[in-house]
Amino acid sequence: MLDRTTKLVSYQTYIDGKWVDAASGKTLQSSDPYTGEPWALIPECDKTDVDRAVEAASRAFDSGPWPQMTPTARGQAMRRIAQLIEKQAQHLGEIEVRDNGKLISEMAAQTRYMPEWFYYYGGLADKVQGAVVPVDRPEHFNYILKEPVGVCGFIIPWNSPLMLTAWKLAPALAAGCTVVIKPSEFTSASLLEFMKLVIEPAELPPGVVNVVTGYGPVVGEALVTHPKVAKIAFTGGSVTGARVNELAAKSFKKVSLELGGKSPNIVFDDCNLDDAVSGAVSGIFAATGQTCIAGSRLLLQESIHDKFVEKLVAMAKTARLGDPGLADTQVGPVTTPAQYQKILSYIDIAKGEGANCVLGGGPAGQEEGGGKYFVKPTIFTGVDNKMRIAQEEVFGPVLSVIKFKDEDDAVRIANDIAYGLGAGVWTQSVKRAHTMARRIKAGTVWVNTYRAVSFLMPFGGYKASGLGRENGMEAIEGYLQSKSVWINNGPAGGNPFVMKTAS
Ligand code: NAD
Ligand code: MN
Repeated sequence: MLDRTTKLVSYQTYIDGKWVDAASGKTLQSSDPYTGEPWALIPECDKTDVDRAVEAASRAFDSGPWPQMTPTARGQAMRRIAQLIEKQAQHLGEIEVRDNGKLISEMAAQTRYMPEWFYYYGGLADKVQGAVVPVDRPEHFNYILKEPVGVCGFIIPWNSPLMLTAWKLAPALAAGCTVVIKPSEFTSASLLEFMKLVIEPAELPPGVVNVVTGYGPVVGEALVTHPKVAKIAFTGGSVTGARVNELAAKSFKKVSLELGGKSPNIVFDDCNLDDAVSGAVSGIFAATGQTCIAGSRLLLQESIHDKFVEKLVAMAKTARLGDPGLADTQVGPVTTPAQYQKILSYIDIAKGEGANCVLGGGPAGQEEGGGKYFVKPTIFTGVDNKMRIAQEEVFGPVLSVIKFKDEDDAVRIANDIAYGLGAGVWTQSVKRAHTMARRIKAGTVWVNTYRAVSFLMPFGGYKASGLGRENGMEAIEGYLQSKSVWINNGPAGGNPFVMKTAS
């Protein structure tokens, strides 16, 4: 059972290796989504605090022990981080359940897996190699150095605060960058606990990892526009992402964006039906649908449509709503009151568009195991891909079921959308599996599985779902830049008024 002591917990934030309040002294309240009551006080930082944090990160990047450390030593520090996460996994998970309403079963799995990011990128730190180039000039020795980009600003959403931070922090530290992290104003607590229980005891030099808590338009924009920040790694909604990209462009920052989705989960009549039903459920009702990779458009082949819907409704009906702190709860609360209202308004939109509600379709009260911010698992059939309920991200437990005829039809519907984050394909045909994987425009295609992630596999979006990739070998490239070095061992020679080309 989760400790739900009513006394407000007061947090400080972590800048330059010290625990501090916001310069203004202001705080904001963070709520427990299950009770709807405030449980923590978080520093409400502003531009002054961002300046302090970026200055600290900038000093740590330019001087002091961090830039002096060998990549091997950085890797060792990252292995200390991994071991500390292993020790604190349960507690970190519980804090996120309290602050975000995520299920303890999901958080236990996430925090148990999180050390792998620090082992993997810690191991990669001293495998970053430049190159020697056989340049087309006599007596030259040319090489390429791989250097860290500098101070990185991370902007994190509320739906998976720790995991999405780890995806950025591990490659950034391995590359030799220093960072300033801005968590969501709704879910800052787990990151602050992570700083206290993991980063501080891991004894990184001061200023290498800093946190600035507070509101997006204040703290987020100050970070995105700060002249000493070299790169912004953002995860969040596509509208905010576009704004961040625009602001960052003014000072030519490097930007990576992990944005929203409206992912198709495509079921062919040659699938294993029970697996596919379970995959459809995990696509939309896991994490209460509050996941960027939600399989929120279920594309069903005509021939199995009715039978599939029947099985799906039967399974979804049994979902246990309740306290996210209990191990057997399957659907928890919506994280914020605004998100709760947004989900309900999309249910109304779908009904208004003529979609057919075959399950749920409104708030879930206490008699259904729910409470203040619970939405019933909801399924709409008869959805046309042109409807708003098919095109717009709901970010809640609301599924749109769309019929298709054949493979071409499935591909057309799957790709007829602004987003391109994930896709599921359910089939027993090897040929169809590979064909569909190539034809779908999305950063990830899962065949006969859904919502699987790994530190080893690149993750990111096509189209409006983002820019750049996290995870896997290539993610570290986002935190590095190349420097070309020319060493001439011969006479300078040539006409000094003309560019030195080869011929
Ligand atoms: P959001 O875009 O509202 O906020 C994300 C972060 O940006 C928060 O920290 C917020 O404070 C900050 N922010 C808000 N306005 C800002 C501004 N003007 N300048 C700078 N920063 C600002 O998103 P959210 O509601 O917290 O998260 C849900 C969204 O995140 C969904 O759309 C979801 O699909 C997306 N998401 C994407 C991925 C992915 O990896 N692709 C993962 C998780 C969530
Ligand atoms: Mn909260």
